[in-house]
Amino acid sequence: AIHAQGLHKRFGDLEVLKSVDLTVRSGEVVVIMGPSGSGKTTLLRCLNLLEEPDAGSITVRGRTVDCSGPRQGRGRRRLIRDIRVRTAMVFQQFNLFPHMTALQNVIEGPIHVRRLPRSYAIEVGERLLARVGLSDKRDEHPARLSGGQKQRVAIARALAMEPEVILFDEPTSALDPELRAEVLQAIKNLAAHGMTMVIVTHEIAFAREVANRVVFMDKGYILEEQSPSVFFSDPANTRIRSFLRLMS
Ligand code: ATP
Repeated sequence: AIHAQGLHKRFGDLEVLKSVDLTVRSGEVVVIMGPSGSGKTTLLRCLNLLEEPDAGSITVRGRTVDCSGPRQGRGRRRLIRDIRVRTAMVFQQFNLFPHMTALQNVIEGPIHVRRLPRSYAIEVGERLLARVGLSDKRDEHPARLSGGQKQRVAIARALAMEPEVILFDEPTSALDPELRAEVLQAIKNLAAHGMTMVIVTHEIAFAREVANRVVFMDKGYILEEQSPSVFFSDPANTRIRSFLRLMS
């Protein structure tokens, strides 16, 4: 479904991604873990081209953006826009539009980007709010929602774009512990429905449960890719062992 090859990214002198390859198959849930500053967020942002890699390529649904060659052209810009729409992001800080209600947040993309008729977008939006348990908050503004509710609106908003994959960047780390469970449950429900997802998280119990594969990043490299059962119970690498010890 999504394939990244040879990704490099630097910010000034700092080389943040150093030749990262990652393939996420359709219906797969990949969890990315790793120490702070290892490049997890940058990788996610490169996967949806919010950040353009300095080298490498991203392929989504068989269409490839090559970041190693020339960067001009309307065709390329259109392709990048298309890939960004198909790889929805859910951010740590929710990033909802504060002046819009929950429903308006969800239907904004379908109306303005997917060009769906408003009445149909509303129908879809209501269905998605119901799916994340927020039918009764449809007309509330974000300021009147809890963090967990805001994040569930953000998830409904991502789903409304009918993406190929949803990329989650530490979706629960801005939440109080008691609000995390509801968001994790919403993500587990998506997994049960076969949604393709890449999730950066430090939540070990959740990762164990939801991941088909755990990718461990360290200093801009993927150090290990493993099934959760092996990754958490018998990590081969001492870096991973000490990371897991610190986290638990
Ligand atoms: P964390 O778990 O703390 O969120 P991370 O693994 O997600 O960390 P990144 O956010 O990808 O790490 O950052 C990797 C490195 O790149 C860090 O040293 C960070 O300071 C640097 N970095 C990230 N974005 C930028 C930017 N826009 N400009 C300059 N440096 C950046």
